[in-house]
Amino acid sequence: MTGTASPTAIIVGAGHAAAELATNLRDHGWQGRILLIGDEPHPPYHRPPLSKAYLSGATTTEGLLIKPRATYEQANVELITGVRVSRIDREASTVHLADGATAHYDRLILTTGGRPRQLPVPHIQQAESAGNFHYLRTLQDVDRIRRQFEPSMRLVIIGGGYVGLEVAAVAVKHGLHVTVLEALPRVLARVTAPELSAFYESRHRQAGVDIRTDAQVSDVQLDPSGDAVSAVLCVDGSSVPADLVVVGIGLVPNVELAEEAGLAVDNGILVDEFGQTSDPKIYAAGDCTNHPNPLLGRRLRLESVPNALEQARCVASSICGKPKAYASIPWFWSDQFQLKLKMVGLSQGYDHLVIRGMPESDSFAAFYLKDGYVLAADTVNRPAEFMLGKRLISERIRIAPSRLADDGIPVKDMLPSI
Ligand SMILES: Cc1cc2nc3c(=O)[nH]c(=O)nc-3n(C[C@H](O)[C@H](O)[C@H](O)COP(=O)(O)OP(=O)(O)OC[C@H]3O[C@@H](n4cnc5c(N)ncnc54)[C@H](O)[C@@H]3O)c2cc1C
Repeated sequence: MTGTASPTAIIVGAGHAAAELATNLRDHGWQGRILLIGDEPHPPYHRPPLSKAYLSGATTTEGLLIKPRATYEQANVELITGVRVSRIDREASTVHLADGATAHYDRLILTTGGRPRQLPVPHIQQAESAGNFHYLRTLQDVDRIRRQFEPSMRLVIIGGGYVGLEVAAVAVKHGLHVTVLEALPRVLARVTAPELSAFYESRHRQAGVDIRTDAQVSDVQLDPSGDAVSAVLCVDGSSVPADLVVVGIGLVPNVELAEEAGLAVDNGILVDEFGQTSDPKIYAAGDCTNHPNPLLGRRLRLESVPNALEQARCVASSICGKPKAYASIPWFWSDQFQLKLKMVGLSQGYDHLVIRGMPESDSFAAFYLKDGYVLAADTVNRPAEFMLGKRLISERIRIAPSRLADDGIPVKDMLPSI
């Protein structure tokens, strides 16, 4: 902290990391002002349900809020929504807001998240101004999609990653005709083994989703009015008619604010294990950071809620003079149909895959091993195996693949005190 009587902490971006940071700063004894400034019109809200319960109508906007508004008031956090921070002046230690206001900081924390990767096609500008072409990152995006979510509509989803598949699962249940176009030879190719991709492709097809792999999108076609996309065109010459298009092809971290202020940036804002940037007064947390992970022995940028929360806790603690280094095994979840997928660790570079249980039963786990150690686990409707995987990875416990594969051995007997 600085020597001033009432130092100010400013948090830029009102998402998962920000909500956790604001109250954690108070809990750790930050006495001064806390300003939380976000450009969306809402207080921080849960983003994962956007492609799940919120899209299906099972939860409301109020139900999405991470903390009730009263929590910020009680913690004396000044929440400013609907205003973008447009510039950081590091010399003056101020931030400039898009509405012309400025605010002084003693500590600045960037939790700016990311934005959807733009579809790289020739008619992208016309598509983006059409009413039926959508990305999915914000509540407003989903509100727009939901207004067009009518049974029998032809929905084309570009991208067979988690977000695309979650939208497909909700839409097909809602009676839409759904096509998923995935450029790679299988869905979820960047994050799971071929066995998992095959499982998800088969479940989607059984539910009526038309999954097309190796389907590279070359452009979109607009109807004669130019107000709507009428088809998605593929490199192989095929054309997929569309009433509604949702694009989910990845995320670009929001680093421009940091970059323009001269902070070190490389696929994310570069931070150390305490979340500190190349400027000791400025920290960052969440999807926008490129951070070191001592458990994995390398730097990485993650897009997951658990990561955003844990980084936020470390930053809050470190800012309040109790340095806490970030060291967590990444984990993530995805809900599609009745399938609760929980993943832990990162599977890249695995040399052996062990499947425990039967995929046909919709209850199984895939363990990814390298040199006899578990790197990652994908568990479908198997919470106990998720916990087992977490422990095997974080404690680097060796386990015989034959034991892992033997579904007859209860998880509690796999390791002592699980
Ligand atoms: C549809 C969907 C489903 C998901 N499902 C899962 C899931 O199942 N499990 C999981 O772990 N993760 C999931 N994620 C990812 C998860 O939501 C993110 O990892 C998480 O939101 C990251 O939190 P964050 O605080 O870093 O960023 P965000 O939540 O993105 O918040 C950043 C905020 O900063 C704002 N901002 C940016 N720049 C400025 C500026 N200059 N001034 C003011 N405000 C600014 C942004 O508009 C945004 O509101 C999902 C994401 C999406 C979009």
